[in-house]
Amino acid sequence: MSTLRPPFDHGLHELDDGLFCYLQPDGGWGWSNAGLVVGDGSSLLIDTLFDVRLTAAMLTEMSGVIPTAPIGTVVNTHANGDHCFGNQLVAGAEIISSAATATEMEDIPPALLHAMVTSDLGDPVLTAYARECFGAFRFDDVELTPPTRTFSGHLGLDVSGVEIELHELGPAHTGGDVIVHVPAAATAFVGDLAFIGGTPIVWAGPLANWCAAIDHIISLGVDTIVPGHGPVCGTGELAEVGAYLAWVDAEATGRFHAGMSAADAVADMVLGPWADWGESERIVANVATVYRHLDPSATAPGVLDIFADMAHWRAANSRA
Ligand SMILES: [Zn+2]
Repeated sequence: MSTLRPPFDHGLHELDDGLFCYLQPDGGWGWSNAGLVVGDGSSLLIDTLFDVRLTAAMLTEMSGVIPTAPIGTVVNTHANGDHCFGNQLVAGAEIISSAATATEMEDIPPALLHAMVTSDLGDPVLTAYARECFGAFRFDDVELTPPTRTFSGHLGLDVSGVEIELHELGPAHTGGDVIVHVPAAATAFVGDLAFIGGTPIVWAGPLANWCAAIDHIISLGVDTIVPGHGPVCGTGELAEVGAYLAWVDAEATGRFHAGMSAADAVADMVLGPWADWGESERIVANVATVYRHLDPSATAPGVLDIFADMAHWRAANSRA
């Protein structure tokens, strides 16, 4: 097999015999990747995309390489809409996720995202930011299509002769993150446990659990990692994601114990080498998650509150 990386160009790329990734530059908010494992008679799709139009275009491109192996199985790596809002177009297949992901899929419904990009959110900075993040996508025709099969821990699958291993490694990015390991190709599709070139966002945590998930992926001995966002990479780039998360965890925890508020902690932290990653404003959400795990009495903020805080941090820290 080859460890050549495909270019970070939009569309389908062959990684190995019968193994493909579908990439969506620039990998920012909503621009997620997917994968395809082709067996002898049926195929497995890893994630759908953020809206119906994008998913339809992807499925059309994939149909060209699977004329005799239709998609019989879909894995949703986690519950974020950019990995499952296209499910309605593969509703005839078995759709697999972790049990935790199936539960979370209701949390941020398409209608909320539709409202975020079409409503005045009562705060001009937030309204503009929400449209910038999600305005390229269409949510009013998305019909939330839940998994038809769930599991916890580990699940082995045989995709018409290709051995696949699903590992549930959350809670980390979300409550139920799953990776798809293809041992014969030394490849893992890791969903949003890897953002490459962009800043990871920790919705669930704890951050140490995400770092442990990264260690687990590296221990699989894979050569090729398809992240949920950004270009195909190897374990070195994945380890860098872990380094960022460990840094955030340590810096935020120290400030928590020193009595600083989460907002003051964020203002006091210097991103250094990570300031160049996209969506650096996600530091706000990540520190809030660290604080939430350290303070048992804290309640999780609403998604609009998190976006408002990120929008204002970015407005205050913009280099433009
Ligand atoms: Zn994503």
